[in-house]
This record gives sequence, C-alpha cells and structure tokens, in this order.
Amino acid sequence: MTHAETVASYVGPSGALEVAGQSLDRLAARVGSTPYFVYERSRVTARVAELRAALPERLSLHYAVKANPMPALVQHLAGWVDGLDVASGLELLTALDTTVAPEHIGFAGPGKTDAELSQAVAAGVLIELESGNEARRVSFAGEALGIRPRVAVRVNPDFALKGSGMRMGGGPQQFGVDAEKVPALLGDLAGLDLDVEGFHIFAGSQNLRAEIIAQAQSDIADLVVSLSEHARSEIRYVNLGGGFGIPYFDKDEPLDLGLVGEQLHKIIDDRLLPALPAVRPVIELGRYLVGEAGLYVTRVVDVKESRGTTYAVVDGGMHHQLAASGNFGQVIRRNYPVAAAARPGVDGPPVTVVGSLCTPLDLLGDKVTMAEPRVGELIAVFQAGAYGLTASPTAFLGHPAPAEILV
Ligand SMILES: *Cc1c(COP(=O)(O)O)cnc(C)c1O
Repeated sequence: MTHAETVASYVGPSGALEVAGQSLDRLAARVGSTPYFVYERSRVTARVAELRAALPERLSLHYAVKANPMPALVQHLAGWVDGLDVASGLELLTALDTTVAPEHIGFAGPGKTDAELSQAVAAGVLIELESGNEARRVSFAGEALGIRPRVAVRVNPDFALKGSGMRMGGGPQQFGVDAEKVPALLGDLAGLDLDVEGFHIFAGSQNLRAEIIAQAQSDIADLVVSLSEHARSEIRYVNLGGGFGIPYFDKDEPLDLGLVGEQLHKIIDDRLLPALPAVRPVIELGRYLVGEAGLYVTRVVDVKESRGTTYAVVDGGMHHQLAASGNFGQVIRRNYPVAAAARPGVDGPPVTVVGSLCTPLDLLGDKVTMAEPRVGELIAVFQAGAYGLTASPTAFLGHPAPAEILV
C-alpha cells in the first residue's frame, strides 16, 4: 500500500479530504480550533467486520484500550468487540463505563499498584498476573474485599514475535512470568484464594507478516497446552496476543488477514480445543482496529524556505502526534502519509512539515511530495488513530491540547 493510496481512501467527491462525508475544514470549524484528531466510526466497524469474516467464530476479539483510550471511541468499539483489555486504573474505569461485562475485561501491565488491584478485584475483571509478588498482592486485595479474584498468568514466552515494531516477549522482560517459572508459580497459586482461569501471552506488536504472526500463535498454543498440564484448575481462558500491524510507511504491505485467519482456525480446532475443551481463546488488537481510522489535522502557520528546503510550519507537532515524528519506537525515521486537506491529489516540490516546538525532533514529514503549502490551510497526518495523542508528550513546551472527535 502506498501513501498515495492511503490518502486517496480519504478523498471525497469534492476532491478534498473528507471524514464521514465532511471536509476537514468543516470539521475544523465545528471543533472551533486546530489542531484536532478525528476518528471515523465506519472505518472502525468495517475493520471489525473484516476480522469477523476471517477469524474463527470461537475466537473472541478484544480491543486493547491502550491504543486509543478516547472514551467515545471505546464506547463505540464496546458495541462490536467481545471484550476490552486495559493496562491502568483509568483505562479500567473507561472500560467499566461501557456495556462490556466485567467478565470480558482483562487488566494487564507491570507495576499495578495495590489500589489498582483492589479496583480490579472489586470490579470483577480478570487480572493478568505479571509476577508471583503481584499474585500475593491480588490475593490480599481479595481477602480485604471478601471477593475471590479472577486471574490469569501472563507468560513471557521463550520466543519473540520476529520483525515486530515493539518486542514484548522472549528474553528478559518486565512483562509476565518467564515460561519456565510458570509450573512452580501455578503450584504457589493453588495455595492462594484465587480463581486461576488461564494464560495470557503477548509476543510483540506492529507486525505486517502473516506467516510470522501465524507461527507465533502456533508456538503460543503449544506453550499454553504444555503449561496447562501443570494447572490445578480447568483452563477456561487463553489470550493469544495479537500484534497485527498496519501499513505506516510508503509501500508497506498490509497484513494478509486471510492467512492469519486460516492458521488460527487450525490452531484452535486442532490444538487448543482437543487439549482444553472449555477454553475461550482471545486475541487482543489495538492499532489494527483503530490506527487507520484517525487523522491528525493541523493548520499551516508559516511557510518558509531555508537553503533549498521548503518548510511548512504547522500549529501542532510531536507533542500531539509523537509517532509521526519517528520518536515512538522507530529505529530509522520514515514519513507517515501526509497531505494538504483541500488539495490531496496535487503534487509539488518536496515540503518538510514541522511542528511549532522549538526542537529539531518536531518533524511531521520530511521532504513530502504534496501540494505547495499555503499559510492558513490544513494539513493532515494519516494513520493517527492509535498511539497518537495518548502516546505523546503533551506537556512539552506548554502548547494547548488538541481536540479529539469521533464522527
Ligand atoms: C500494547 C498491547 C496490545 C496492543 O498492541 P497493538 O499493537 O496496538 O495491537 C495488546 N496487548 C498487550 C498486552 C499490550 O501491551
């Protein structure tokens, strides 16, 4: 998929960029200020539909709230997915405000505080244990509340998801319990008043290669089946992770969802269910559900030329959309798709789009082929629906926060 194709998917009948049938200028007027993030409901639901068509019916689809915790968006997704995965006390409260039952909410993440654990036990959500110490603290919280906590063991596998944007399994990790230590932990858990429902294994994130995801999920299934032999209670829950990536960079190939789905059918029918007949397999996806459904929209404040380079200086920047600046997990900086809102199909000489922060890190697009910029017009940065505002250093330089809308 090329950047031009991504941009073209947002061009409306007027020839300008549109979200839910409205131009970005009209949306800016509606918001009353720039910059803003806009997320499109219909793209999110279309993505869920594609997943449902490709994945086994038996497989539950969870949304990882971390990717974009905007409450209205989480509410929207709650109507379409089977569960929500959260990673902080605040995300938990957002999830509990939706129609998703606590039974289908999972809480993972290292360093959960006693207060967060107590909240999670009181809410009745599934706590994904990151260590033996955390297991003991959960059991204290349960005793204090007179509620039996629901837990799963988050396992740090002995393999990683190769070629991922972010590796979160394999080798030493702050996430989960090393696979080889899990049998002993399961013995310890039997001595605590906890309902041990199963396992959670997340091997990595932002992967575009279906065969690698399929291999990781197959390895995860094998690991779960072998660890289950040490369980003292019936395994009812297995979170297989996810890691489905989206195309950010020019010519990134979108994930072959058909292939991933085919493999998941086999893994579930041939391996998981025969060994663990009561199991509810889950995958948890963040960016794949929402990343391509969002735009970050900024206004050009200044256009200047410096020694042969044309700069468009916009009223936003890395403090709102850090990921596009290349400072969120990229090894080599590459551009996200960027276009002029009113003239997305027009190409001029290369333009470097920078934000208003006084640091060279604040780069939204380096030598982008786009329309020659004009002061006052809007520029959109694509693929801004996940890890945008939520993953950005909003306090840096003290500029106002952007608005977020869902249309
Ligand atoms: C961050 C995270 C996710 C979501 O990752 P995406 O790349 O957004 O799909 C899922 N599960 C866990 C445990 C995570 O930490």
